[in-house]
Amino acid sequence: MKQPKLKKIYRKLYASFGPQHWWPAENSFEVIVGAILTQNTAWVNVEKAIANLRKAGMLDAHKLSLLPQKKLAALIRPAGFYNIKARRLKEFLNFFSACYQLDLKRMQRVPLSGLRRQLLSVHGIGAETADSILLYALAKPSFVVDSYTKRILGRHKLIQPDADYTQVQNLFTRELKKDSKLFNEFHALLVRLAKDFCLKNQPRCAICPLKKIN
Ligand code: SF4
Repeated sequence: MKQPKLKKIYRKLYASFGPQHWWPAENSFEVIVGAILTQNTAWVNVEKAIANLRKAGMLDAHKLSLLPQKKLAALIRPAGFYNIKARRLKEFLNFFSACYQLDLKRMQRVPLSGLRRQLLSVHGIGAETADSILLYALAKPSFVVDSYTKRILGRHKLIQPDADYTQVQNLFTRELKKDSKLFNEFHALLVRLAKDFCLKNQPRCAICPLKKIN
């Protein structure tokens, strides 16, 4: 069977769904907070935690870095694992303060590969979170791989069942232009596809935009 190619998939999804306007946040710092809070929880819970932070006037790197960890944990409680996530946010803020004086523009000036390595060295920041920060907060072309991406690509036999994060990411980097706008939109479209059609159980192939892709 001829395998579908990523560009073809992208075109089909964009034609079907249109632009997804990701990431749902008011500014880059809020994207970073959301990327850390969304680990192991549904986005709807993250929204509640972010609303608490906004209401408390804490969606600001300087203010958040001064907030005691216990108070931070109480504010982000709806996101689940709130003590762990409060610690992770604090670890990120310590790094952000020590290396970039809490200035996103300074951080943005660092080349992608070096900055990715730095982010991965922060406790609690794994590949998916690091790439979400790089792509959606800093507009750097680092493709975000998640379980939805693996599910869709696996079902279309574009990756091996045991493919790891780097192998899946390399596929996008190899086949596509390294363009942050393209990576931004493509990841968002894959999430939309997985939520609406490529469900974990009983995928809706008969009515899916990718049904004739091969
Ligand atoms: S629902 Fe079916 S056709 Fe659509 S992406 Fe998933 S496996 Fe492919």
